[in-house]
Amino acid sequence: MKKKILILGAGFGGLEMSTMLSEALGDSIDVTLIDKSDSFVFGYAKLDMLFGRTSEAGIRNSYASFSKPGVKLLRETITGIDAEAKRVTTTAGVHEADILVVALGADYDVSSTPGVVLGVNEFYSVPGAAHMAKLLPDFQGGDVVVGICGAPYKCPPAPAECALMMHDYVTARGLADKTRITLVNPLPSPVPPSPDTSKAIMAAFFERGITFIPNTRVASVEGKTVHLDNGTSLPCDLFLGVPKNRAADVVIAAGLTEGGWVPVDPLTLQTRYPGVYAVGDLANTGVPKAGVYAEGAARTVATNIISQLRGEPETARNPGAGSCYIEFGANRIARVDVDFLSGPKPFGTFHGASEALRVDKEHFGSSRRARWFGL
Ligand SMILES: Cc1cc2nc3c(=O)[nH]c(=O)nc-3n(C[C@H](O)[C@H](O)[C@H](O)COP(=O)(O)OP(=O)(O)OC[C@H]3O[C@@H](n4cnc5c(N)ncnc54)[C@H](O)[C@@H]3O)c2cc1C
Repeated sequence: MKKKILILGAGFGGLEMSTMLSEALGDSIDVTLIDKSDSFVFGYAKLDMLFGRTSEAGIRNSYASFSKPGVKLLRETITGIDAEAKRVTTTAGVHEADILVVALGADYDVSSTPGVVLGVNEFYSVPGAAHMAKLLPDFQGGDVVVGICGAPYKCPPAPAECALMMHDYVTARGLADKTRITLVNPLPSPVPPSPDTSKAIMAAFFERGITFIPNTRVASVEGKTVHLDNGTSLPCDLFLGVPKNRAADVVIAAGLTEGGWVPVDPLTLQTRYPGVYAVGDLANTGVPKAGVYAEGAARTVATNIISQLRGEPETARNPGAGSCYIEFGANRIARVDVDFLSGPKPFGTFHGASEALRVDKEHFGSSRRARWFGL
């Protein structure tokens, strides 16, 4: 009997895990990968679409191109997870597994931030970024607030990138003199584990007149006013929101979460249910919610599943380390490498912004498109 492995979510985590399992075990296993969407989108591509560098069609990587021996990719919406029984209900039926991997990412919860509306005044979802991309050409200058509604949130540098790219955008349109950009962030600095990165971002903000408000989150948005959790408010002609993030409702309903996220062993990604793993943004591992870290976690679980099926010891451990590219504006990109788990505290190395690093970032995307989709 082939082992049945069920992977929920074909994002960074699910795609990498099923690719590794297929490479190592091919048709000798039975992997089912389930996603409700028809395509995968790199998170950073939403910023490219927001600022008109590409279209929505241009950022979608169709699952129709995903084809791996031993792996079936089904387009279904997961409506129930019974972790104890390793049984999953979807809009199309019931799936049972020997090993269950939950990799459903982080969802957005706007219910606690009045005035923030999914798909309308946020740029973290594809519909939101697409909608705001259509509004930007009508912007004629004024107060812009890039506002974060809660931490942790996906890709800690992304809101700072948004502020810098917005500055480029208004400069190109001759609106810089009429525009004031403010970033409201619950974190104490733009990238806390790497003081060098934060320092470079703060210097770039200073050069461009961008205001950074740390340790503060957006409490609500009311017309042209953004209310902050410290009791003050900001005038706002254009709100670019980052909604509060948390695990998807179906994961919460399954009783898998504590405080909105799934508790796991950070090194093995095992949940409290034997044979059930949680990988990527929804798992509480102490590392940031970013694709590279989801991928590292997925590789760890895949390596251990491969060892388990071969009757070998499961020795792989989540590295909790990865590189993030940061758009600095003016076509320059920086990179920060942060290792969260191997030392006594997180440690980051900053590589200053350059045009050369754009080639690296493009390779980051194209190498994954090639590996997962054969493109
Ligand atoms: C603006 C922005 C910029 C970013 N920039 C970067 C960056 O530069 N580098 C980086 O590494 N990361 C970046 N990220 C973060 C990155 O996109 C996420 O951390 C990463 O996608 C998480 O991977 P994951 O596998 O946990 O979840 P995801 O990639 O989100 O995948 C989860 C999958 O689950 C599916 N799903 C959810 N619920 C259901 C359901 N009920 N039924 C069926 N399917 C379901 C979804 O359709 C999705 O395909 C950025 C994110 C944003 C928003």
